[in-house]
Amino acid sequence: AVEITAVNKWYGEFHVLRDINLTVRRGERIVICGPSGSGKSTMIRCINRLEQHQSGTIVVDGIELSNDLKKIDDVRREVGMVFQHFNLFPHLTILQNCMLAPIWVRKMPESEAKELAMHFLEKVRIPDQAHKFPGQLSGGQQQRVAIARSLCMKPRLMLFDEPTSALDPEMIKEVLDTMIELAEEGMTMLCVTHEMGFAQAVADRVIFMDQGQIIEQNEPKAFFSAPQSERTRTFLGQIL
Ligand code: ATP
Ligand code: MG
Repeated sequence: AVEITAVNKWYGEFHVLRDINLTVRRGERIVICGPSGSGKSTMIRCINRLEQHQSGTIVVDGIELSNDLKKIDDVRREVGMVFQHFNLFPHLTILQNCMLAPIWVRKMPESEAKELAMHFLEKVRIPDQAHKFPGQLSGGQQQRVAIARSLCMKPRLMLFDEPTSALDPEMIKEVLDTMIELAEEGMTMLCVTHEMGFAQAVADRVIFMDQGQIIEQNEPKAFFSAPQSERTRTFLGQIL
């Protein structure tokens, strides 16, 4: 589904991504971890062109990301993204937040968009909140709305950037449970998270990044029990 080949990126002089190679197959669930500033967000933001890489290639579902705006649009339609902060529109209801993109981007009739939105709000278990505004929901509920809103676009790939790191502990589980369900349904997922329980439960592969490089990757059991690199060991020692 995603092929990243020899990708490099700089912010001015700063070399933020160094020769990144990563293939994500359809249905694969990948967890990315690593210290703050290691380039995790930058890497996943390159996949839907929220950031631009300067060399190498990124191909998403057969479409190579270049400056072709039409192709960028095509990729963004296939890729859902959920951030640490929920980025819901505060002046729209939960239902309206979910209906927006299907109506404007997919040109879906309003009644159909509403049905779809309710379907996914049920899926994340908050259909009863549909007519409230984001500010009236808890953090965990808002994050589940953000996930439902992404799903309304029927993405083939979901990117998560620390979706639980801004949440109070008691709300983390409800969001992780939603993500686990999504994983079990076969969604292709790339998740930046330090929730290692989640990684162990659903990841096919865990990737460790440091200083703009992929240092190592492995299936979770081996990754946690026998990390190869000293840097991975140090990192895991700090977070586990
Ligand atoms: P965190 O765990 O804190 O979210 P991260 O691994 O996601 O970290 P990035 O956000 O990808 O790291 O940032 C990687 C590096 O690039 C950091 O050193 C950051 O300061 C720098 N950086 C990020 N965005 C920009 C920008 N727009 N301009 C300049 N430097 C940036
Ligand atoms: Mg980040």
